Amino acid sequence: MVNQNSWKDIVEACKHSDAELIAVSKTQSIEDIQSLYDLGQKSMGENRVQELLDKKDKLPEDIQWHLIGHLQRNKVKYIAPFVCLIHAVDSIRLLKVINKEAAKNDRTIDCLLQFHIAQEESKFGIQLKDVEAFMNELKILELDHVCIRGVMGMASFVDNDTQVRNEFQRLKAVFDTLKQTYYSDYPSFDSISMGMSGDYKIALEEGSTMVRVGSKLFT
Ligand SMILES: *Cc1c(COP(=O)(O)O)cnc(C)c1O
Repeated sequence: MVNQNSWKDIVEACKHSDAELIAVSKTQSIEDIQSLYDLGQKSMGENRVQELLDKKDKLPEDIQWHLIGHLQRNKVKYIAPFVCLIHAVDSIRLLKVINKEAAKNDRTIDCLLQFHIAQEESKFGIQLKDVEAFMNELKILELDHVCIRGVMGMASFVDNDTQVRNEFQRLKAVFDTLKQTYYSDYPSFDSISMGMSGDYKIALEEGSTMVRVGSKLFT
């Protein structure tokens, strides 16, 4: 079931911070996603391509689908025709595939670069020590069908607000550096995707422009 009050609270908090709510609909039923849509929620996030494809055809066409999880290169072709934003790009090889599939579909695909900000071990996300090397490799490529809109990150799953806040500040600092160094002439480099059910309030305080909230929207 959709928790309508919770949805309203989060939408209100986002509005207050000029941010957008991406409702994470993974593992939720078609009926519940439809209810959320009927409330006015048009941006949904899924982390698995197959699940997204299974759901998409059963739901309204004007939903903006965000791919928020790790994306394998061989799956890009399935979402390239319609995906609104790919949140978790962490390799040049993946970006090149996205560019190629976007070209085939005669469109430009918006992407965020995922950075590893948590203290926890994770396979995903560009390491902060590699930011410069990554950007130097990226800037010489001509990826005409990809638009880098900003950054994305996940804080540690810990009950320590100070640590979580520090991690979000780290992502904001990466965004600011990239903006200054590489994207000062690109107004569309404007997005910071951070914040989930447990930490979206901290994320909004630290400059998030996009929160990805799932479990808190449902009961
Ligand atoms: C599941 C997921 C979320 C949402 O998590 P909740 O804690 O349910 O809000 C956000 N981002 C990513 C990448 C996810 O996989």
